[in-house]
Amino acid sequence: MIEITAVGGYSEVGKNMTAVKYKDDVVILDMGLHMETYINLEDDDDDDSHSLRDLTNTGAVPDDSVIENLKKKVVAIVPSHGHLDHIGAIPFLAQNYNAPVICTPYTAAVLRAVVADKKIPFSNEIVAMEFGRKMKLSDSITIEFVNVTHSIPHTAIVVIHTPDGKVVYANDFKLDETPTFGEKTDYKKLKELSGRNVKVLILDSLYAGTDRKTPSESVARDMLKEVMLNTDTKGKAVIISTFSSHIARLKSIVEFGKKMKRKIIFMGRSLAKYVAAAESIGLAKFSPSVEICAYKKQMKKPLMKVEKDGRDKYLIVCTGHQGEPTAVLTRLADDKIGFSLQRNDHVIFSCTVIPTETNRKNRASLEKRLLRYGVIIFRDVHESGHASRQDHKELIELLQPEHIIPAHAGHDKTKHMISLAEELGYKRNKTVHEMKDGKTIML
Ligand SMILES: [Zn+2]
Repeated sequence: MIEITAVGGYSEVGKNMTAVKYKDDVVILDMGLHMETYINLEDDDDDDSHSLRDLTNTGAVPDDSVIENLKKKVVAIVPSHGHLDHIGAIPFLAQNYNAPVICTPYTAAVLRAVVADKKIPFSNEIVAMEFGRKMKLSDSITIEFVNVTHSIPHTAIVVIHTPDGKVVYANDFKLDETPTFGEKTDYKKLKELSGRNVKVLILDSLYAGTDRKTPSESVARDMLKEVMLNTDTKGKAVIISTFSSHIARLKSIVEFGKKMKRKIIFMGRSLAKYVAAAESIGLAKFSPSVEICAYKKQMKKPLMKVEKDGRDKYLIVCTGHQGEPTAVLTRLADDKIGFSLQRNDHVIFSCTVIPTETNRKNRASLEKRLLRYGVIIFRDVHESGHASRQDHKELIELLQPEHIIPAHAGHDKTKHMISLAEELGYKRNKTVHEMKDGKTIML
């Protein structure tokens, strides 16, 4: 019997956390932040040291009191990838568990940076495990990472092997046949797992209601190429903003920036952090050909050079694509960092607006301010890192799990995964199970 508890991320998008119990051992999958709540909490006051109670009560971190009786049984915390809605609560919650954090090398590098940023005591061991390796966590539990494509390097489908079957955790993923960086999804491994006692598949259902296959990152790369290389940028500043953890996208941006014969400057703390994490494990190299400025004081000199040498000699890559009030792009729009935008400069958003009220408001306000300068805005130069309905179908048919649990959203989205599962012959409440935060199921 395998017992699965939905701790977070089953009633909302964010704060992903799941507990899987077999006999006397428990594995925690993910420990993420609810980003919007967390950011609002940080914005409301300047105090960075919120108590765990505050964070839990506001819903910024998962409420792990629902597994209070399991805490001593936890043998490992296993995040699937380095996005903050999957690892961001680890610095706050992991200390309550006497267990190591086991993850892929890039996830480990990002987590170390995130932990260092928080300046709170952290004693859990962080163990990096490569793809293709297995790790025995107890007499009856072994874990394995299968490479899958997403919008951050080293994303894993986590497989928990037990004598009663496997738990396969695909949260988040897309099935990209032509990724621009990193390996393709390891279909060979997934085929090997298929049908051989896959007890349950827990999967990312964010776009289960979107009936298509999510386009490849190479499509996003072509879109970028179009706006960067096939537009007239002579005499114009070009500023581009994307997800700081999207190393594949950043590599494309740098490649096209070099073709534009521009010097490239990365600006912003989070950009510097994710890039440093990638460089620390030899995953990608940006410096020294890219100048990286984490802090405001480091930006002054390069921006003076931009003004002096000519605005069309540089490509500025910066944080702030969601219009975050303290990010570089917002400060640039407010003329607060010593560089003034001009008419017909290009501002490229290589992202979509993450659909929350705060983001929509922030981004609209940012664009309004940018347009006052008369800049040209390029929006949505992006493809998602999340699977859509056709990808879900492909993964389900490939793995043929006995049970399905939709994750990474509340009912408004998971209902679409349930209908897909029903189309594929699964039975509601018998073999496809809608979970809510706090709910436990025995399989
Ligand atoms: Zn993700």
